[in-house]
Amino acid sequence: MEVQLLEATDDPEEVICSAARNDYMEEFVGDKSFEETMESIEGETIGEKKETLIGHLLDHGHFGPFEHPQATFAVKGISRSCMAQITRHRHVSFDVQSMRYVSFDDVDPEDVAEGEMVVTPPSAEDPDWIGRNQEGGAVDEETVEKRKAIFQESVKRSVEDYQELLELGMPPEDARFVLPIGTEVNMVMSMNARMLMHVADMRAAADAQWEIREMTEKVLDLAKEWCPVTFEYYEENMKNRKNRLAP
Ligand SMILES: Cc1cc2nc3c(=O)[nH]c(=O)nc-3n(C[C@H](O)[C@H](O)[C@H](O)COP(=O)(O)OP(=O)(O)OC[C@H]3O[C@@H](n4cnc5c(N)ncnc54)[C@H](O)[C@@H]3O)c2cc1C
Repeated sequence: MEVQLLEATDDPEEVICSAARNDYMEEFVGDKSFEETMESIEGETIGEKKETLIGHLLDHGHFGPFEHPQATFAVKGISRSCMAQITRHRHVSFDVQSMRYVSFDDVDPEDVAEGEMVVTPPSAEDPDWIGRNQEGGAVDEETVEKRKAIFQESVKRSVEDYQELLELGMPPEDARFVLPIGTEVNMVMSMNARMLMHVADMRAAADAQWEIREMTEKVLDLAKEWCPVTFEYYEENMKNRKNRLAP
């Protein structure tokens, strides 16, 4: 899996602060420089003033200003299962690679068994992996070897069947029905900073499934570079909280 930041609002924290200051200023925010807009906020430097205001907004649950900056992420190689989970978030915009137009007719089923084209979950390879709702905890090497063999055989066979159906003239949009839910997909998604925090509340949490958690952690790392004051504050003070942005 790979996650890249494709495009994002320039100076997102200037946008957040300007929007928030607009709410409490008599003058028109559009007539002022950013420094003038932030004049009454506590802090020696403009960076400190941003930290004061953003921390105050997040502390008080004033989340509206965080809806203005937007970021677009390109995600490579997640499973269709993970894609189904993330696309439940209705305020995120998505473009998802189509299986109607991308046919996997030149993929070698032996390579699929070795991890190409289909995501291999850690529980098919790691005896110490403990998943959610797993009774009994870790397993021995022999058990995990059996899991791996069944998993590899199953994904290989489904790709062989898929390719045979294509050879029999079945359209890719119908032949794809036999492919596993772990089949990889690429996706582009855009969301605002408020929504990003909400997605992280739900999907970086300990009870989220491992793959969407991994993807969300990568998104959060990029968000920290893009919008550092907000997402460092989020990481230190808000992540894993019970009282989430939205229920
Ligand atoms: C651990 C976990 C397990 C899950 N298991 C399942 C499952 O078994 N089956 C299943 O179907 N789903 C499951 N989900 C998905 C979950 O039910 C939500 O659909 C998903 O997380 C989207 O989040 P959200 O509800 O906050 O909505 P979002 O679309 O992210 O919207 C954000 C917020 O906007 C508000 N909002 C958006 N739309 C509306 C609306 N129409 N009416 C009122 N308020 C709205 C809500 O406050 C919402 O929290 C699971 C999620 C998690 C994290």
